Amino acid sequence: MRDYDVVVIGAGPGGYRTAEELAARGKKVCLVELFEERIGGTCLNEGCIPMKSLLEFSQRKHLFSTGIEAGKFAKENVSSLRKALISVLKSEKIEFLFGRAKFVSEKEISVLGPEGSEKKVSADYFVIATGSRPKLPASPVGGPTLPAGGPAWFAPDGKSFFTSDNILKSDLRFGKILIIGAGYVGCEFASFFRGMNSQVTVVEVAERILPEADREISKTLFREFRKRGIEIIVSGMIAKIRTGKGIEAEISAGSSKILRNFDAALSAVGRVPNTENLGAEEIGIKMENGFILTGKNFETNVKNIFAVGDCINAPALAYVAYRQAAICASSICGEKCHEIDYEKLPKAVFSDPPAAWIGISGETAAERGLEVTIFRKFFRANSKAVLMRKPAGFVKIVCEKKSGRILGCFMVGAEVFELIHIFSVAVSNNLTSTDLRKSVFIHPTLSELISDTLR
Ligand SMILES: Cc1cc2nc3c(=O)[nH]c(=O)nc-3n(C[C@H](O)[C@H](O)[C@H](O)COP(=O)(O)OP(=O)(O)OC[C@H]3O[C@@H](n4cnc5c(N)ncnc54)[C@H](O)[C@@H]3O)c2cc1C
Repeated sequence: MRDYDVVVIGAGPGGYRTAEELAARGKKVCLVELFEERIGGTCLNEGCIPMKSLLEFSQRKHLFSTGIEAGKFAKENVSSLRKALISVLKSEKIEFLFGRAKFVSEKEISVLGPEGSEKKVSADYFVIATGSRPKLPASPVGGPTLPAGGPAWFAPDGKSFFTSDNILKSDLRFGKILIIGAGYVGCEFASFFRGMNSQVTVVEVAERILPEADREISKTLFREFRKRGIEIIVSGMIAKIRTGKGIEAEISAGSSKILRNFDAALSAVGRVPNTENLGAEEIGIKMENGFILTGKNFETNVKNIFAVGDCINAPALAYVAYRQAAICASSICGEKCHEIDYEKLPKAVFSDPPAAWIGISGETAAERGLEVTIFRKFFRANSKAVLMRKPAGFVKIVCEKKSGRILGCFMVGAEVFELIHIFSVAVSNNLTSTDLRKSVFIHPTLSELISDTLR
């Protein structure tokens, strides 16, 4: 007789949601996490919640009349959400075990507790949801990696050189900050620090910021960031960075080398999976570049061992982990489930202004031999955006010419991270521009811009 039906390793969004889905189906579930304050994982402790709290604070700081600081505001939100999450998980009869899990066999793990105690736990199924951590910049950043033991000055020291994890422990008050990387995390921190009146310089190795997004999104964000006073260096690399009293950085951009001093630097160059020291490879679980390989139902090559979230090679986002968790739990319970169509995932960057998108662009459609109609409108033509004094941005809707099917939508502007859900419904249900035109939108709202764009 095994101790549990299912043991889930890691209590981030992937892990706790899998545990919830399984407990709701009557399974006896144990959720293993390093220690209690890590429940909620990266999302709650260092990612989505503190990051969005900081952005909320910097954009509405005039509302916080009590003099509450940004970091304190974020901590309060994290702590009250963690309390609520723990109480929900307990009410769902999920058992917790604190410590570092390691596979002993395909049916057993050992959990090394914070005080050195060790406990062995067996189960019929295991779900690995150990997440990810910030990637440390190669030396030089964006360039070739130096051999191990290379110059220490490339390691974020948590004093003046930070990652998204340890910057939350600082007082977040820097006169001048260098942000390395202009992906989601880099763009959001750039907006936060600029909102707090820091002088912000962003260095991105690619030729445009947010290289994953549609070109028009990158171009508009670049222009809007610059208008707000953020300095952006694209096709740039950090050739040297020296920590001490502040930061001394040598930035190379094309043939020029720029030597600059900052009070702090933040490395936002991506994330790596937490899959070492898990004993996974020892029991034969296949990996690639540190990511656990799974099938479409998230089962690994080892029967009854599954993996979800940032530790597998899929978009590293909390809501993706939630969806994977639901599929994984259904699969463990022998239920039929829908696969994830990663092309139909909405994406958002909560910068100022924010950006959001879904589906395929006009260029991708053309590459696939699809003829498209593109509808475009600007936020400055929308009454709500104007009265909110947020006229920056655009909406671009890509439809298949023949059928009118909505293939994609790309937006920059106020609250587009909410508006994009209309397109999440449209794209995943193959709705057409005519379907959306039939729907009535309230005036004056930001959503009205969508019906106006399709008019
Ligand atoms: C700054 C920032 C902002 C972000 N903003 C967003 C956003 O707005 N929206 C969004 O969807 N996503 C966002 N993300 C991404 C999101 O946080 C992650 O995709 C999400 O947390 C992944 O969930 P997970 O469960 O896979 O892993 P994690 O949340 O990383 O949780 C994994 C957990 O496993 C535990 N663990 C690891 N190894 C072991 C072990 N051996 N034994 C026991 N426990 C272990 C860890 O302590 C951790 O708590 C952001 C990330 C960052 C860094």
